[in-house]
Amino acid sequence: MDLYEHQARELFEEHGIPVPRAEVTDSPKRAREIARGLGGRVVVKAQVKTGGRGKAGGVKLAADPAAAEITARQILGMDIKGHTVGKVMLAQPVDIESEFYVSYVLDRAAGRFLAIASAEGGMEIEEVAAARPEAVARVHIDPAVGVTSAKAAEIAAAAGLPPQTVDVLVRLWEVLVREDAVLVEVNPLVRTEQGRILALDGKVTLDDNARFRQARWGTEGAAHDDPLEAAAAEKGLNYVKLDGEVGIIGNGAGLVMSTLDVVAGCGARPANFLDIGGGASAQIMADGLSVILSDPAVKSVFVNVFGGITACDAVADGIVRALDTVRLTKPLVVRLDGNNAARGRAILDEHAHPLVQQVTTMDGAARRAAQLATTA
Ligand code: ADP
Ligand code: MG
Repeated sequence: MDLYEHQARELFEEHGIPVPRAEVTDSPKRAREIARGLGGRVVVKAQVKTGGRGKAGGVKLAADPAAAEITARQILGMDIKGHTVGKVMLAQPVDIESEFYVSYVLDRAAGRFLAIASAEGGMEIEEVAAARPEAVARVHIDPAVGVTSAKAAEIAAAAGLPPQTVDVLVRLWEVLVREDAVLVEVNPLVRTEQGRILALDGKVTLDDNARFRQARWGTEGAAHDDPLEAAAAEKGLNYVKLDGEVGIIGNGAGLVMSTLDVVAGCGARPANFLDIGGGASAQIMADGLSVILSDPAVKSVFVNVFGGITACDAVADGIVRALDTVRLTKPLVVRLDGNNAARGRAILDEHAHPLVQQVTTMDGAARRAAQLATTA
């Protein structure tokens, strides 16, 4: 889960990383008062979970409190790369001498963290890396050791950052560890004309597996980027949106993953990953089907269930009862195998829904679902 800039700023401040004074609001009137409190001139910043806000017109300087109110009114409600601005942060402007880039990111392949740093900050780091790869330093961090002062000095030297940034680099690591983050990024980290080092923009991605320890961020920060993923999470479903056209429901992550492979092998692309887990009650089936059917990209749905502890007749009952509450709009291919498969198939046969068809093998069912999706 990504945090908003103002939340990242709050964490930085708590860990002693210097940040400009700032306050957040959803009201233009309040923006005027905040600006007054901050000395009049402020930077008004859209709070959305995407980068490049500056280029999109979501970061603007306002000369006085009245201008802050007008600017806040302009930015609130703005759409930035598909994200609607609900809040703005008003920050004290600083006189920038140089802009740097620093981040720590989990490098799963290496089993380590990676520090990425550059003396050419401010713009998107991907652009710097593409144009001038030598300007971007990459230093691996042993997670058991972390970023000590010596390590921070090594990172700063590799990137050509001034020695005063070492303290911030150590504290930024503390943010990552203490707050259960898998990514922390400061872009830009600046040196002001007065020689101070300040974090002007921050991004923090928390580890979702540690969510139980991060209750303070509540549901606002936990908002999923994809509305269907959010709806599924609310219903306690394990759902991941993918790019294809075959909706997939299975029981157990292993089976769902191999279902994705088999569907791909049949020349179609999975539209999602939906694991209904061990108990496929009517409610879970209905929830799962309604999530998948509300994805306009889905052309057919493949329900692949291997009955173990959950018996196939219970799953079939679940599907039948789900069809009472969810209007089926796309063909549903069902493969039931394992515990009580024959009884489960009989239940679906008896129900005889015109859009439901059964295929007894996983390969055959995948082929049918792929065909239906690609010819639809
Ligand atoms: P984004 O990365 O989404 O475009 P930033 O917060 O990095 O948003 O802002 C873009 C640019 O605006 C920064 O690179 C910096 O030059 C300038 N900026 C941001 N905050 C301030 C501030 N408090 N004072 C002065 N300039 C700022
Ligand atoms: Mg930035």
